[in-house]
Amino acid sequence: MGEDQGFYVQKIEAALDQLGERRTRPRHLMAQRLGFLAASGQGFTGDELWLSLRGDNPTLGRATVFRTVRRLVEVQVVDLIDFLDGTKLYRVCGEVLNALGHHHHLACLRCHSIREFSFCLPQDQLEAVSRDNHFDVQAHSLTLYGVCENCQLSTQPTAPLGAPEPPPSGSADPPATLA
Ligand SMILES: [Zn+2]
Ligand SMILES: [Zn+2]
Ligand SMILES: [Zn+2]
Repeated sequence: MGEDQGFYVQKIEAALDQLGERRTRPRHLMAQRLGFLAASGQGFTGDELWLSLRGDNPTLGRATVFRTVRRLVEVQVVDLIDFLDGTKLYRVCGEVLNALGHHHHLACLRCHSIREFSFCLPQDQLEAVSRDNHFDVQAHSLTLYGVCENCQLSTQPTAPLGAPEPPPSGSADPPATLA
């Protein structure tokens, strides 16, 4: 990423305009916060986002935050990274505002950090799979799971694939109850 927060806030505001979200103070605060998270590259759950916004905005509904972030996933501003241990984290790195454009993710099974890379499946192979299976491919995802550089340098033993440590926080997408 590497752009500054203001650039991301602009892109997020434009996407929210497109989605027909009214220009309210809560919306403005959410765009600011998401811009910060975009610049930091940090993953987060819906609840973490909601809790971080509630201080400035005590009446902000959890359902509103969850709905907005889901819509930002649909318009490719926010990506949702699915770990193999049930953890799902949002990250403001979608191709709409990412200097890499179309990209995929490296997901660390130990610390749940996320990085992106620009390598993609070869187009001719995708077309061959589509043709051979008479399947109209419309999208794909590709996440590589492993251990990040920081975690490799730490002294803890590596969590084996399929039996990672418990997630530090809940799923990104628990049922919304509050309006
Ligand atoms: Zn991404
Ligand atoms: Zn790590
Ligand atoms: Zn791809």
